[in-house]
Amino acid sequence: MPTTEIKKKVVILGSGPAGLTAAIYASRAQLEPLVIDGPQPGGQLTITTDVENYPGFASGILGPELMNQFRAQAERFGTEIINVWIDKVDLQERPFTLYGKESADSTDYSTIIKAESLIISTGASAKWLGIPGEEPVPVGLGGNGVSACATCDGFFFRGRPLVVVGGGDTAMEEALFLTRFATKVTLIHRKDSFRASKIMQDRVLTDEKIEVLWNTEVKEIFGTREEGVKGIKIFNNKTNETSDYATEGVFIAIGHKPNTDLFAGVLDMDDVGYLKTEGRTMRTNIAGVFACGDAQDSYYRQAITAAGTGCMAAIDAERFLAEHGEAEKVTATNW
Ligand code: NAP
Repeated sequence: MPTTEIKKKVVILGSGPAGLTAAIYASRAQLEPLVIDGPQPGGQLTITTDVENYPGFASGILGPELMNQFRAQAERFGTEIINVWIDKVDLQERPFTLYGKESADSTDYSTIIKAESLIISTGASAKWLGIPGEEPVPVGLGGNGVSACATCDGFFFRGRPLVVVGGGDTAMEEALFLTRFATKVTLIHRKDSFRASKIMQDRVLTDEKIEVLWNTEVKEIFGTREEGVKGIKIFNNKTNETSDYATEGVFIAIGHKPNTDLFAGVLDMDDVGYLKTEGRTMRTNIAGVFACGDAQDSYYRQAITAAGTGCMAAIDAERFLAEHGEAEKVTATNW
């Protein structure tokens, strides 16, 4: 198979809110960026329904529609978007090299991309339990009563009993947040103690709306396509008893995994894999490589904050290129 070689001043890996915002800014700075779609073009918002917390949409907007708008806006200013599978990068020297295949299973690198600067916006993926009923609709109830984001979806569960699964800070935060909407929140954890910080545990354990089921594993989520979640099958690993537990929504909060394996051993990252950036900038430990969005932010993890850091990464990349004589300096007023 012939190999295509692409040379670009700015290559953006990942097309969620961070990547496409970086593309809007870089394309408006005449840098003609290339965006490489990941396995989930558009990112995590494409698997949600209504987005009601993204500013500018008073009546809300569907997640996929919002990402279509991001995409169209980036393309309007000259962004090129391709869909190749990158599983090898060489960041030892500039231009950086990215090796692209047609799919994860392909053996040939059909696209070689040379990048003067690289913006990493590969996002993060929620971890799932891997149980029946959790799969996205139409196979399971994912997006129809099963969610991994209370901030995104909690509002849709007003007046209903809800379940949260997990024992870390995210699970505590999700459970506490959901008490605003739910009649009752049941926090289900597989052990007899939480790993969350003490302060978060205390808040959960003293909240009258939250009940904790210890030593309990969720084995299945059931319900109907029309009515959503009706209940879960739970297993008590102390008593070995299995039972059904009624609920109308299940929030899985067992952690996120940043999609950064590709950069292990090359870019600085924390223990979980979030890419480290320098001070207030989006610069990584390799000059000319920038990181933004959920691949870099373990704390806020919102579409709007991802978009913000995408903007910052593009500005950092443009300044880097200008300092290296590869881009006209763009002034702060003409982005
Ligand atoms: P985490 O600390 O890794 O906790 C994940 C939790 O999910 C653990 O309790 C774990 O159980 C459970 N879990 C993992 N896989 C499971 C499975 N297959 N089935 C059932 N349970 C499973 O993740 P996190 O809560 O997302 O926190 C990630 C990091 O962000 C932490 O450093 C946290 O402190 C930080 N964070 C901080 C805040 C805050 O400060 N407000 C908020 C959110 C997150 P085990 O305990 O049994 O392993």
